[in-house]
Amino acid sequence: MKLEKRQNLTQFFYDKCAEHGLKITPQRRVIYDELIKAKDHPTADALYKRTRKNLNNISFDTVYRTLLSFTEMGIVSLVEGYGEQKRFEPNLHQHHHFRCIKCHTIFDFENESYNDIPVPAKVQKHGTVTSKKVVLEGICSKCRIK
Ligand SMILES: [Zn+2]
Ligand SMILES: [Zn+2]
Repeated sequence: MKLEKRQNLTQFFYDKCAEHGLKITPQRRVIYDELIKAKDHPTADALYKRTRKNLNNISFDTVYRTLLSFTEMGIVSLVEGYGEQKRFEPNLHQHHHFRCIKCHTIFDFENESYNDIPVPAKVQKHGTVTSKKVVLEGICSKCRIK
């Protein structure tokens, strides 16, 4: 992620924490920093391994609970599960996912026509749609060469 974008996200993080009366501890800061550096929609476990490099006494439990409270406060977004471990991302802008079914990498992409995709009448019967996310699945180019 570009430096300018990261700085904006850091400001967003401070604002959100203030809004929810959440104290900014070194642990929370490091977890969020690792998340905005990540491009891979990491799991709590992957983030735990990365944060441990900076804070060697942090526990998995702290990382996991912090991620869940970030999610509740709308600081990060939870990538909807596919029967795998929960994965997190800092990108809250409307975007879509291309997911590799072999290595489970999730790539972000933006697409105007997907944002404006019409809601089928059948779905409207079930309730009101509040967000739209298209997930495309396939084999990523790295896995295709293997
Ligand atoms: Zn792949
Ligand atoms: Zn994403």
